[in-house]
Amino acid sequence: MSNPGISIAALQIRNSIELENKMAALENTDDAVSTASGMSAIFNSFMAFLKAGDHLISSRAVFGATHTIFTQFFPNWNIDFTLVDPVDQDTWQKAIRPNTKMFFVETPSNPGLDIVDLTAAKSFCETNGLLLNVDNCFATPYLQQPANFGADLITHSATKFIDGQGRVLGGIVAGKRELIAQVKKFCRSTGPALSPFNAWILSKSLETLAVRMDRHCDNAEKLANILIDHPQVSGVTYPFLKNHPSYDIAKRQMKRGGGLVTFEIKGGLEQGRRFLDAIQMLSLTANLGDTRSIATHPASTTHARLTTEARAETGITDGLIRISAGLEHIDDIVSDIDHALNASA
Ligand SMILES: *Cc1c(COP(=O)(O)O)cnc(C)c1O
Repeated sequence: MSNPGISIAALQIRNSIELENKMAALENTDDAVSTASGMSAIFNSFMAFLKAGDHLISSRAVFGATHTIFTQFFPNWNIDFTLVDPVDQDTWQKAIRPNTKMFFVETPSNPGLDIVDLTAAKSFCETNGLLLNVDNCFATPYLQQPANFGADLITHSATKFIDGQGRVLGGIVAGKRELIAQVKKFCRSTGPALSPFNAWILSKSLETLAVRMDRHCDNAEKLANILIDHPQVSGVTYPFLKNHPSYDIAKRQMKRGGGLVTFEIKGGLEQGRRFLDAIQMLSLTANLGDTRSIATHPASTTHARLTTEARAETGITDGLIRISAGLEHIDDIVSDIDHALNASA
């Protein structure tokens, strides 16, 4: 070690601080704190501010594990919650109670790609004195900076596009200095610290974020436009397609449409299974935001244990396929998907 005054532990903490400072700069916030995973970031962003007797309002369209925190753990701690429609703002206002403290949204959402209007969400929070907490995992700060719309807390699963190469787990909470101080205190007392090695990997990953995100978006955009005309596809969802119900809002708050595309395969459950079986190049996992393109059929994999009705409530139809467009040549991605779609018929 060239500087004998600095211990290994101190050097390791520097890795986290470097990542946190970079993420705060990218998100245009005062400060950020890094955590062991996306879920620990989200959990810490709740528990640093909520106590027994409080109430939280959340968009219904959130990551499965976030939903599980609300439905299976909040009741144990006497924290109330109401799930609302991500788009229908009347449902937000109806959910307000005297003890409401926080509004949590995910935009674009997983897997429905619903867009929450961040300007409307901020004005709702201002009127009612709530903290606005935004899961910015799908967009990354390269495509969307919720703080510029007034978000108080911004959470990330760094496991996805921030790493972008399917190597490590990590999470980030960014926001105003006073708020992040509270999250840091809770996080350091309860232990979900990011490992120094993962912090170093994630800090290096940010050096390529812009280049990777542009390629993810190029590929997703081209794929979405090709899928629209495919005879085995009955609908395509992509925030920057003109037929997206929140196209104008997406254009206003995002630089580009992101790396994920979903489509509805004609037929449903069985055709979805056959589609996955015929895929040759894409990865078949529930992950997203990797260098390699990934195909996911929630109805036969991640959500297979739910009934069709229960799946429908979370916005997952039997024929829904989610594609995380990777960094491969677009012709290779299209040819694998096209061949698997034809084999599904
Ligand atoms: C994956 C994901 C998470 C959870 O992140 P982990 O790093 O897997 O804990 C949270 N929110 C969204 C939108 C995600 O896609």
